[in-house]
Amino acid sequence: MIVGVLGAGQLARMMALAGIPLGLEFIFLDPAEDACANKLGEHLHGDYNAPHLLAELAARADVVTYEFENVPADVAEFLAARTTVFPPAQALAVAQDRLIEKNFLNDLGIPTPAYAVIDNFEQLVQAMQTMAYPVILKSRTQGYDGKGQALIHSSSDLPNAWALLDGVPAIVEAFVPFKREVSIIAVRTSQGDMAFYPLSENHHRGGILRVSECKTDDPMQQQAESYISRLMDALNYVGVLALELFEIGDQLIANEFAPRVHNSGHWTIEGAQTSQFENHLRAILQLPLGVTDAVGKAAMVNFIGGLPPTEQLLTIPNVHLHLYDKELRKGRKVAHATVRTSHDHVLREVVAQLSQLAEQTDES
Ligand code: AMP
Repeated sequence: MIVGVLGAGQLARMMALAGIPLGLEFIFLDPAEDACANKLGEHLHGDYNAPHLLAELAARADVVTYEFENVPADVAEFLAARTTVFPPAQALAVAQDRLIEKNFLNDLGIPTPAYAVIDNFEQLVQAMQTMAYPVILKSRTQGYDGKGQALIHSSSDLPNAWALLDGVPAIVEAFVPFKREVSIIAVRTSQGDMAFYPLSENHHRGGILRVSECKTDDPMQQQAESYISRLMDALNYVGVLALELFEIGDQLIANEFAPRVHNSGHWTIEGAQTSQFENHLRAILQLPLGVTDAVGKAAMVNFIGGLPPTEQLLTIPNVHLHLYDKELRKGRKVAHATVRTSHDHVLREVVAQLSQLAEQTDES
């Protein structure tokens, strides 16, 4: 079977690393010549909307999937008219626009921070007559890793925040005093079977994910599963989906979802019976799902922009290193390391050690 992937970054690379043992072959479409998945399959080098490349991908691949959600709607339609595309196009359309996404979640009874649509400065000023500070102004589309966002503490911040977003359609949302950030990663087949990973507890700095820890037996697991199963059913979803959540009191509220494999699920490679990457492939190829139970205790640390020497990382027991084969560049996720162990204290110590090394080499 041949899997076509839009994008050849680290998510596509880890998908291929999971799929090759299952006998799968990969074709990636990516405009970057040095895209880091390109040694693990065939690389169609060109724009995501180049019709001849999309036609070739559709003709040769048994199924097409993607590693990012900003796939233009006409590209998804073009592919879907020619081959099977999973996850479905509606999931892309909803996830691409923060306003549509928040409306969709709320309509399903999945709470989000309070929000208002902002198309011009006057609307922002007006919205702040009913909303309490602090708030975050976020571009409706194209935002990720905290980009296209401005935190607003008081009315004097409003002009600068609006200028920072450069007039793009936006939403303003309540800044939530969360206790924890968690995400749930789940997988659904075309028959509607679902499996859920244990919650990931996530730590961000500067809007970028730094550490994710697998939380088995988390008291919020059931609430998260109820939200994500509602979401997957409503989207008639096929593949892996990630839902990012804030914990406030004894309630979870949704931040956003990603219709793809997710950075907060990288620990599943060593820390779960079946990784998110393998289960995504199983789902989109209509194969039986693998067990999602945790194997011991696991956590993952991201390396951004810089990287300690491999030898230094590999001297730490219980560490599994994933280098993405990307040139070091400011703000780029270049590697992650997962620690898996049977002991809480080892997990804590190694995560602290890895986090310190990541901070020393951080270029974000
Ligand atoms: P996002 O790009 O929306 O995922 O935001 C990136 C990070 O900014 C989140 O993981 C949070 O740490 C923080 N953040 C975003 N929205 C809010 C909010 N409404 N309240 C508090 N923190 C937020």
